[in-house]
Amino acid sequence: MTTKTELLQVIRKHCLECCGGSYLDVEKCTAGPEAKLSTCTLWAYRMGKDPDGPSEAKIEAGKKSFRFLQQANTQA
Ligand code: SF4
Repeated sequence: MTTKTELLQVIRKHCLECCGGSYLDVEKCTAGPEAKLSTCTLWAYRMGKDPDGPSEAKIEAGKKSFRFLQQANTQA
């Protein structure tokens, strides 16, 4: 199964190819929603991060792990 992280990595790689390998040009890409000529559907994801942040399930999993580690530390 392809994960969201893998998809974001593929988009990041594609954007780097699009900009000739320049990280700065990817960051400054002008094909965002404010573009006058043409927009790119990958723009919001070009930095390899989800602009909406982690899903609720991922946040809950992180909290669960944190509580588990806290309990383990207090018992040690
Ligand atoms: S968002 Fe689109 S136009 Fe901009 S670098 Fe990525 S692929 Fe290229």
